[in-house]
Amino acid sequence: MLERKDSERHAMVESQLRARGIHSPMVLEAMDKVHRESFLPEHMQDLAYEDSALPIAEGQTISQPYIVGYMIDALQLDGGERVLEVGTGSGYGAAVLAEIAGQVITVERHKGLADRARDILDQLGYHNIDVVHGDGSTGWHPGAPYDAIVVTAGGPKIPPALKEQLAVGGTLVMPVGQTESSQSLVRITRENADDFREERLIEAHFVPLVGQAAWTEPGQPQGTGLLTSQAARAEPRSLSELVAEHAEPIDNMETVDLDPLLKRIGDARVVCIGEASHGTAEFYRFRARITKELIEKKGFSFVAVEADWPDASRIDNYVRHAEVPAASWTAFTRFPTWMWRNAEVREFVDWLHDYNRNFESEESKIGFHGLDLYSLYTSIGAVLGYLDNVDPATAKIARDRYGCLTPWQADPVRYGRAAASGRYGECEKQVVTMLAELLQKRLEYSVQDGERFLDAVQNARLVANAERYYRSMYEGYSDSWNLRDQHMFDTLQSLFNHRGEGSKAVIWAHNSHLGDASKTDMSVRGQLNVGQLCRETYGEDAYLIGFGTHQGKVAAATEWGGPLEFKTVRPSLSDSWERVAHDSQVPAFMLGMREPGSRDLKEQLQHQRLERAIGVIYRPESERISHYFSARLGQQFDEYIWFDVTHAVTPLDSKMLKGTPETYPFGL
Ligand code: SAH
Repeated sequence: MLERKDSERHAMVESQLRARGIHSPMVLEAMDKVHRESFLPEHMQDLAYEDSALPIAEGQTISQPYIVGYMIDALQLDGGERVLEVGTGSGYGAAVLAEIAGQVITVERHKGLADRARDILDQLGYHNIDVVHGDGSTGWHPGAPYDAIVVTAGGPKIPPALKEQLAVGGTLVMPVGQTESSQSLVRITRENADDFREERLIEAHFVPLVGQAAWTEPGQPQGTGLLTSQAARAEPRSLSELVAEHAEPIDNMETVDLDPLLKRIGDARVVCIGEASHGTAEFYRFRARITKELIEKKGFSFVAVEADWPDASRIDNYVRHAEVPAASWTAFTRFPTWMWRNAEVREFVDWLHDYNRNFESEESKIGFHGLDLYSLYTSIGAVLGYLDNVDPATAKIARDRYGCLTPWQADPVRYGRAAASGRYGECEKQVVTMLAELLQKRLEYSVQDGERFLDAVQNARLVANAERYYRSMYEGYSDSWNLRDQHMFDTLQSLFNHRGEGSKAVIWAHNSHLGDASKTDMSVRGQLNVGQLCRETYGEDAYLIGFGTHQGKVAAATEWGGPLEFKTVRPSLSDSWERVAHDSQVPAFMLGMREPGSRDLKEQLQHQRLERAIGVIYRPESERISHYFSARLGQQFDEYIWFDVTHAVTPLDSKMLKGTPETYPFGL
């Protein structure tokens, strides 16, 4: 094996170096001496003398042997010099240099790589190499001046600090290019204190030089230039590194200790837990885990979700062991069925059903409620059903009033269009009056059964708001968005009123409803949302949690009303928050962002970047336009929870998946 490697190495020197014009005996000898396999992970050692760069940890590469030889040759060393290498990577290049130079100082920005290279070089017995962890784009001042400097990563220009640290007569070689992946090798010779000679050598492809005097860290727009604002810092860290350092890893979703998170949540009255898609299992499962702990350890009183009130009340009846007549319709059959009809939600619902056995009365059991308003006709049916029971005379009047909406049962959007066209009378007055009347009869009705009264009022409120909602769709997207989120927030408040002082809520909805809209470009379109309204109302007592993922699978449709598909989520864009999280190399984590443990991190989290939002529709082909918006993550949320690779939710059996139209059991 060893002999085979020796002969492969000799062959490499002959065919890849000498045959291509590298003639310096010193360089050829050094390249023949250093075992490249020592710097590679075991499973790649077979490839050690291939004519190519190879991947190492942290998304970096070990350079192609020819490039290492070429660059060192270009430095024109005589032997015994003091050399700075920027970009240690595996440590291979440093070892070759150390065979020729007197002293090598090599700087690497990734701590893991620097530590590993240091270990290997120590084991191999190199005493003339110092491995420094830090940003080498500003050189390494304590070791200057250098007789030679070699930079093994590509930057937009030669950093001035490197030129300053070059001794007179010294040579610097660096890949320079206007894009992050393609460069020319440039050689600079310092002729005297002020004059530098510059030569362009060959074209090359290096990984980017990332740092204060080079490219910004991955995740920021390409070519944003130099990061001069960080000049005062001794050792700037990339944002992803800071995230890696301060995030709490989630090694196991079921068992990870949530106490630090619960501590950050403190005495919050509302905890909003978002999701970056409506079809990702990890988001649902971990959200359920957090919610269980909030209920068990902090006494949260109800869960309110982005589902229609009547659907969720079916679940509420089940989890609170309520004795109510069975409704003649099926819950969650409206598109998108998988959003709530999935195994992950079911597991939580069954847990809550059991947990609620701990309480005697229905009122003290933990509730499950819907905040959304898409159930216009089911809600009408529910109001009528209620009135039929408690007040048949009023039920008759209600039938008349709600009858105004009858013609559009099959498609309420058409009601909006008709009302906007002015050719039909609006039903606003009727539905608003109905709600007002119900509220007036609060005392009379609620003595009979407070819970059922709440249910009827909520449905009447939903009808009134949905009527406006469908009309507003013709006034503009933002108007209807705001009406919907305002309705969700109003529903939350009426739940609080009903549950009384000291009640606490967990909300489940998409990130776009729960992350403070005023810190995203939604605000440019005049949109607000539940998260923002919670912050404005409850201040620090609202804790907003967002989720994110880099890639994987998601349950989603291609168009509204379309069938469920299992789609592949593309890797996140380079200038997104998701890419920052991905580049942290922590596969799953929680990051508290109110006090993330570093001022630098907190500051960087305030910047604006892209954020991905997948709803029930996912269109990977137009992803940038359809699914990304920009946000200041650290202000949008109080906590960010990350799962690098994610999977689709498991929908409950396919028969139930078929979207069936709403049924209208009360003769409308
Ligand atoms: N000479 C290396 C090749 C390394 S690839 C070898 O033989 O294996 C380039 C290396 O430069 C990467 O490890 C990358 O992390 C590092 N790098 C990028 N920007 C840097 C910076 N500003 N300071 C120090 N190292 C940097």
